[in-house]
Amino acid sequence: MLQIRQQRFLDNLSRQSQFGRLPKSEGGGIDRRAFSTEERAVRQYFCQQAEKASLGIAIDAAANLSARYPSADPDARTLLLGSHLDSVPNGGSYDGALGVWAALEVLSTLAESKIDLPVHLEAVAFTDEEGRLGDLFGSRALTGGHTTETIEAFLKQAAEFPDDFEAMRRTVPGALTPEAIRTARRSPQSLAGFLELHIEQGPQLEKAGCQIGVVDSIFGRRSLQVQFFGRSDHAGTTPLHLRADALVAAAHFITMAPEILQQQFPNCVLTCGNVLVRHGAYNVVPAETAVWVEFRASSEDVLQQIEKALDRLAGNITAAPDLSFAIHPKDQLTPAAMDDSVQGQIRQVAQELGYPAMTLSSGALHDAKLMASITPTGMIFVPSKEGRSHSPAEDTESEDLVAGANVLLHTVLRLCSRSKA
Ligand SMILES: [Zn+2]
Repeated sequence: MLQIRQQRFLDNLSRQSQFGRLPKSEGGGIDRRAFSTEERAVRQYFCQQAEKASLGIAIDAAANLSARYPSADPDARTLLLGSHLDSVPNGGSYDGALGVWAALEVLSTLAESKIDLPVHLEAVAFTDEEGRLGDLFGSRALTGGHTTETIEAFLKQAAEFPDDFEAMRRTVPGALTPEAIRTARRSPQSLAGFLELHIEQGPQLEKAGCQIGVVDSIFGRRSLQVQFFGRSDHAGTTPLHLRADALVAAAHFITMAPEILQQQFPNCVLTCGNVLVRHGAYNVVPAETAVWVEFRASSEDVLQQIEKALDRLAGNITAAPDLSFAIHPKDQLTPAAMDDSVQGQIRQVAQELGYPAMTLSSGALHDAKLMASITPTGMIFVPSKEGRSHSPAEDTESEDLVAGANVLLHTVLRLCSRSKA
């Protein structure tokens, strides 16, 4: 059975992880934020390796970088594979990068084997997934999701890093003007699908002893600010039982909200990430406390149910005299389901190759979330040691990296044989 070239793949993964590598004294890991010198260098390295494999190279008007293995049929649709090469500060070696290098390896393997495909195959490194200048900037452009506001916000942020932005601009057709960025959009009719291999960034696969995760959905997210109102009083003269303490109310909310999630919504997550207390003094009973809360789930329906449960919780907590609350919705992101049929193909490939697999949802956001809005999309996960990610401690066993790349290869072949039939 056809396999990726393991040594070349692992060498490339290891070499690419040196771009942006930080010494221990600077916290370790890699810093390869979008548009930085280090990211531009790793993109260059990607081009060299693609050329070595006799693949074509393309950069679109949103700076998405691709290697291409064309079909003999010029009218064929394009099957995209990929992820991102940018990182968070002090990030790990494989977040995003694995999906890009595995995609390039799959194209290289197929090109070497001179396998003719009924689709154009493209390995893409999406621009700025981590959002240094604009959240999911490249995949948003490719899927036609940019608005005047998102482009303005991107250019405003870019102005903070003029040297990096200028250097990148020179390599991008259209020089990243607002008009040009919009032309990076691809029509759904031109696409045959999208596959993203990624590290799990959580502990589930390792815990279950599985090498492959088949992602069924990418969580949606809502964030709220919950305000608790009480009464400010003298901290020395007001007996405890007569107080309406807004911070105590908020503290109940912060401890009870995760319990409600665990009991009623066991696969979902919730985080209270910040608190603001007024007046914030030792000697004044807090009159007002705002809690920043975000929660994630795989369907809009469940997100709605959680929001209602939080509303009930805040209502119960503030049932006492002089306490009240208000909920202000801040931000929301819809969940994305991965294509059922693509999930089935990935599952079968994992079984055929003998890799133990399980189905799971992704709590983290990925380019696949946006791609799913325009084309049949699948995500393959491999384990993260101890579930660590966005950290220098992020790591994945070599055999799992290779397993992921082989599953990607054979999922491509299966999707191709289906599209031929
Ligand atoms: Zn990522």
